Amino acid sequence: GAKAVGIDIGGTSIKGIVVDGAGRILDQEKTPTEAKLGKERILANVKSLLDRLLGRHDDIYGIGIGTAGRVNVQTGEIVFATDNLPGWQGSNPKEYFEETFHLPVIVDNDANTALVGEAWLGAGKGAEDVTMLTLGTGVGGANMIGGKLFRGAHWNGGEWGHTILVPGGRPCNCGLHGCIEQYLSGTALVQLATEASGHHYVTGMEVLDDYLKGQPQIVGVIEQFTIRLAVVMNNIHVGLNPQVVILGGGLIDSKQIWWPLFAEKMADMKLNVDVRPAQLGNDAGAFGAAKLILEQLCSP
Ligand code: BGC
Ligand code: ZN
Repeated sequence: GAKAVGIDIGGTSIKGIVVDGAGRILDQEKTPTEAKLGKERILANVKSLLDRLLGRHDDIYGIGIGTAGRVNVQTGEIVFATDNLPGWQGSNPKEYFEETFHLPVIVDNDANTALVGEAWLGAGKGAEDVTMLTLGTGVGGANMIGGKLFRGAHWNGGEWGHTILVPGGRPCNCGLHGCIEQYLSGTALVQLATEASGHHYVTGMEVLDDYLKGQPQIVGVIEQFTIRLAVVMNNIHVGLNPQVVILGGGLIDSKQIWWPLFAEKMADMKLNVDVRPAQLGNDAGAFGAAKLILEQLCSP
């Protein structure tokens, strides 16, 4: 049967998987994005990852790529990228990889592909109106309406990460102030914890360990984090009223630590929203990217 490669280009790492038509993951690879070294380096890192995966498999139909940033899905151009991927804006991975590998390539926003993955075989299976947030290096967002991704007039439909939570708040990589991304990403959690405690945290896991130990400043940080996330759930619920809201991204790997408090905050707000953790975990973006290209194969 047909197989496809799915790639997820995030602010920190690039993941690649080989998926078959039934959604089985046959192979995987991971490499650092090295985003700070610029777009040529990002493309080179994706290329070497693809060399390895394609070298191990025949009958790959095509390549699906989910990437941080706003993507013109028709042309494959990155029409906007924040400083999480410096220089990425204006590049065209679709053109580049179609020329390099002579395979069809589709490129879409990483949260969009994560939602496609979750709707296919994860937490959104069977639902038609689904919103997804990914809490990782940045905060990604995506909306599926009536079973179809809603990408918007300028490809930034569903960019919840850059909706504003705090007017005049923390400066964001996108140029605005107070974006959700500056409060609810893994990166933000580490920064907020460092500022609140004076201890220099490096990973989200270290922060959550201190939360579990009851470190008072960190308990405050996690309290705030879950309240803000609940506020965002309210806004999504009121704005779109999807059947399901899915939360994914790197922070979902530690959900057992913070989700109970988050559920409490939603209950405090009398929020009746079906919020579910991503079932495909942090693989959802690559998985959905592969699905997008497999769909192209199936459509007449
Ligand atoms: C970008 C989004 C992306 C998200 C997750 C944000 O900084 O602006 O396009 O989906 O990070 O990677
Ligand atoms: Zn922003």
